Amino acid sequence: MTHSSILLIYTGGTIGMREDPADHTLKPYDFANIMAEVPELGKFGVEIDTYTFSPLIDSSDVEPQVWQELAKLIYDRYDSYDGFVVLHGTDTMAYSASALSFMLEGLNKPVIFTGSQLPIGWPRTDGKENLISSIEIAAARDENGGATVPEVCIYFDSRLLRGNRSVKINAEQFDAFRSPNYPELAVAGINLRFNRDCIHHTSQKNLRINTQLDTRVAILKVHPGITEHVARHMLCDEGIRAVILETYGSGNSISKKWFTDIVRESCESGKIVLNVTQCLSGEVDMERYATGKELAKAGVVSGHEMTTEAALAKLFVLMGRSADNTQVKRQLSENLRGEL
Ligand code: ASP
Repeated sequence: MTHSSILLIYTGGTIGMREDPADHTLKPYDFANIMAEVPELGKFGVEIDTYTFSPLIDSSDVEPQVWQELAKLIYDRYDSYDGFVVLHGTDTMAYSASALSFMLEGLNKPVIFTGSQLPIGWPRTDGKENLISSIEIAAARDENGGATVPEVCIYFDSRLLRGNRSVKINAEQFDAFRSPNYPELAVAGINLRFNRDCIHHTSQKNLRINTQLDTRVAILKVHPGITEHVARHMLCDEGIRAVILETYGSGNSISKKWFTDIVRESCESGKIVLNVTQCLSGEVDMERYATGKELAKAGVVSGHEMTTEAALAKLFVLMGRSADNTQVKRQLSENLRGEL
């Protein structure tokens, strides 16, 4: 059997950081550091090439340009590799994995995001296991020689999660990611156990990339005490094309007339208003309570169980592809990459 070949892409993040002796903060560091720390990478029969972003970034500085660079890189090298592993900071990993899932269309190979909570050179690092297992997952093939997991995923602390279902849930523990509304795609114990029935396969044969992104999106988290001024500013600003409304529970919001009037005004002006829940799990059902029903009547679109990260990325991509908001609203309710 031929060896799998993997492109390991280093964007930055804690995994490769080193303490700056001047101010004791963690800063991105040379990729050679990572390879030197994990000699095991040479041991399991996978050919690994590397690509380093320049400059390396703390993922708090991720911009859509980084996603465009990643998508183009994967597209350009697609035929040369069996899979891709992206080393990325944890802070925005769920955003980036969501974005790449929508930007890469017809993906038939694994794109596994991973990183760590402690730098790879530190004795108690979680980076080694995350990196080694990610490579193994990216290289895994099924009985017919196809990729076992042909989707954009996050691998972290023994769990393989669908990228556009993932959220960072912990700033402290190694166990930092979950996909609360979807089962794990694999769990790494003594063996790598894939949950094959839950893995997404596309019927498209060829990879296409959507690199045109429209970022005119605002996120408004509904909260007790929200003022009319804030709501109007976020929902009616001319420079905003879509608003993600993070609502309570199953999609409920303030029932006060002034709020519903602003939402209606926003929808009637042609903006896209998308309802996602602030809860970690469960989904928006605007028919359940009177307060949710008012939003539906005003023209708000249900985000069902989409995470805020997935909703943002899906809007960027759909709006980048079409200037027609009615079409975008329709596609928001379609399951494009297993996000619904
Ligand atoms: N601030 C870091 C980053 O996101 C944290 C991490 O990598 O875990 O790049």
